[in-house]
Amino acid sequence: MILDGKALSEKRLELLREKIEESGLYPHLATVLVGSDPASQMYVRMKHRACERVGIGSVRIELPETATTQEVLQAVERLNNDPEISGILVQLPLPRQVDTERVINAVLPEKDVDGFHPVNAGKLFAGQPQFVPCTPGGIMTMLSEYGIPIAGRNAVVVGRSVDVGRPMAALLLNADATVTICHSKTVDLPAIVQRSDILVSAIGRARFVKAEMVKEGAVVIDVGINHDENGKLCGDVDFDSVAEKASAITPVPGGVGPMTIATLMENTFKAEQARSCNPVL
Ligand code: NDP
Repeated sequence: MILDGKALSEKRLELLREKIEESGLYPHLATVLVGSDPASQMYVRMKHRACERVGIGSVRIELPETATTQEVLQAVERLNNDPEISGILVQLPLPRQVDTERVINAVLPEKDVDGFHPVNAGKLFAGQPQFVPCTPGGIMTMLSEYGIPIAGRNAVVVGRSVDVGRPMAALLLNADATVTICHSKTVDLPAIVQRSDILVSAIGRARFVKAEMVKEGAVVIDVGINHDENGKLCGDVDFDSVAEKASAITPVPGGVGPMTIATLMENTFKAEQARSCNPVL
């Protein structure tokens, strides 16, 4: 089974558009883009397009490549204090001279629709999720919508980043999977991956996961966005060979990526709903 993130995200966005319309609320997402990295520019464009699609207003803050930490913090502070803004997304990665941790920590947790603030990360790990990072959140939605059981199954997450690997592991654990996290220092990674009923790969290495590493019938979620030696877009998983063994698999593109954006929209509406109940926020 191919897990079609594109079709599912279309469905979720349409549902969200209706919900927003019925609510009478007008959520606003602000994006902060520092510099002119083409991939980041493209992601921000896609996010604004999705906002338009579902009836979320969007504000775009752009700062030059040379921006200082202080300048980025000031932009975030203005958005924190802007009563129109429901959610703030700082597009990562930030240029080297900018202190990413300080910037992430400066976003009000109530407006942190990316779910990267330590308060939101802590809540997730405490089993009380509020804003869940969009990529792992979207993956959980996908597993649930496709009726893939999680409880009691062996799940392996390859990659331990703050934006994907760690929150993914926490979400799977909260859903009662038995979770192993692997990373670059893991010894005998193939043997661990071989045992997994659910494999999530988020490492950023083109076609790293080969068929012989994957258990027959496993569910394989490919987060990676890479380019192979011929410049072709591909995931972390060698799709053609792994698809033969997996019971379900996400393609790249058209798998996890669109779900990430749909989840960002859902988080933004959620932030606005919370704010409308408590206008002080
Ligand atoms: P990071 O670079 O932050 O983290 C990569 C992780 O993979 C690290 O934990 C690293 O280990 C681990 N790793 C790297 N190489 C190996 C290896 N050979 N064996 C085992 N572990 C390894 O990346 P992200 O988590 O931000 O992103 C991962 C991929 O997902 C990228 O391709 C990115 O573009 C993509 N992505 C896709 C999204 C989507 O919406 N589809 C959203 C976000 C990311 P260590 O910690 O030891 O260094």
